[in-house]
Amino acid sequence: MGVINMEHHWLPFTNNRLFREEPQMFARAEGVRYWTPEGDELLDGSSGLFCCAAGHGRREIADAVHKQLLELDYTTHFQRAAPVSFELATRVAELLPKGIDRIFFGSSGSEAVDSAIKICLAYHRARGQGQRTRFVSRAWAYHGVNLGGTSLAGMVNNRRDFSGVTCDVVHMRHTWTEEQRFSKGQPETGAELADDLEDICKTYGADTIAGVFVEPIAGSVGTIVPPQGYLQRLREIADKYGLLLIFDEVITGFGRTGSAFAAQEFGITPDIITMAKALTNGAVPMSAVAVKTEIQQAIIDAAEGDRPELFHGYTYSAHPVACAAAIASLDIYRDHGLFERAKAFSPTFLDQVFGLRNLAQVSDLRGYGMISGIQLKPSDKPGLKGSIVQRILFNEGLHVKATGDAIIFAPAFVTTEDELEQMTAILRKVLGRADI
Ligand code: PMP
Repeated sequence: MGVINMEHHWLPFTNNRLFREEPQMFARAEGVRYWTPEGDELLDGSSGLFCCAAGHGRREIADAVHKQLLELDYTTHFQRAAPVSFELATRVAELLPKGIDRIFFGSSGSEAVDSAIKICLAYHRARGQGQRTRFVSRAWAYHGVNLGGTSLAGMVNNRRDFSGVTCDVVHMRHTWTEEQRFSKGQPETGAELADDLEDICKTYGADTIAGVFVEPIAGSVGTIVPPQGYLQRLREIADKYGLLLIFDEVITGFGRTGSAFAAQEFGITPDIITMAKALTNGAVPMSAVAVKTEIQQAIIDAAEGDRPELFHGYTYSAHPVACAAAIASLDIYRDHGLFERAKAFSPTFLDQVFGLRNLAQVSDLRGYGMISGIQLKPSDKPGLKGSIVQRILFNEGLHVKATGDAIIFAPAFVTTEDELEQMTAILRKVLGRADI
């Protein structure tokens, strides 16, 4: 491979100086493996970035994309549509909890979150409650990086430098507590932390609040699993005070918990669900917001005359090529029973993860379904251990996502027992080192 000029591409969420000093790149991927431009093989321990649930390089998706590009490469969806978008919306609705069946498309999780915010505002305004403009989210939350999602952010680094332009958000506490350390699955304690929502309703006035956003499992902060009963309590409080409950399922959607959505896995029906990532198995950017029938209906009913009911949408909303990639992905999930496979494989996966418990670098382990968080002992520079370990793991042949002093281990649902063992062997080797 020739020398690459690395000056021009400004990498996101990256220290670009460090990266240029020691670039870590992928040139090829197949199954649960990546290859560097030099030909070195790595196992993918994070499904790319929690997108490639069915593994990389799926020919079915490539073929569908190729066919769609030649058949209808593009249409706007402003006053126009393509049959493929209705087909996809129907397929997504079939996977969702009953009653959440109106689907609005975008290209990224961040777009889905900001679209959901605007839908919440439009819904309350349509019902004569336009004063409900405030939102509630949670400490340590990640809801994308557009302005709405930046406002909701509970990972403070993502919000701090942009606070001048964010909207009005009040944060509940996160749900991780010391006594939950090393609890596998849903922690038994902590449901009462949901009462923060009731306190906020009383303090700020429930009639000023439009909705509450939560990731059912907080992913990007390092996998925080909801305590038993916590989401149920949020649902009850949201109902009591007339708030919309939004589950941000950008990571948990499409089988990661072992059910199609975490909503079904935990038995809670929110009002709105945002999704992206595995919608197209990561192959083409696409996201969606799914809302209850009556939410869309209220907004439609309030529209004046022949005007559009929602002045919102993107050039690439329901892009036909993305729709084709999504349908092909949903076909793979269905035909290969991959959500069921995630559920069946989860105990083996979590056993492997919790087998790392006594290693020198490990301070906590959390996990559910096919996602886990490995909390690391911080170095003298808190918040950087994840990146340090991530770089070492790369050189040992394992790709994982780092966040603060943690790494997120969440392989594809097609990972074999043997491949999982190879991945955890690398984790054991690196996390057992005392000198990092
Ligand atoms: N919401 C959640 C819960 C996420 O995990 C992410 C991305 N990790 C987003 C929103 C933003 O998605 P995107 O990066 O596609 O904008």
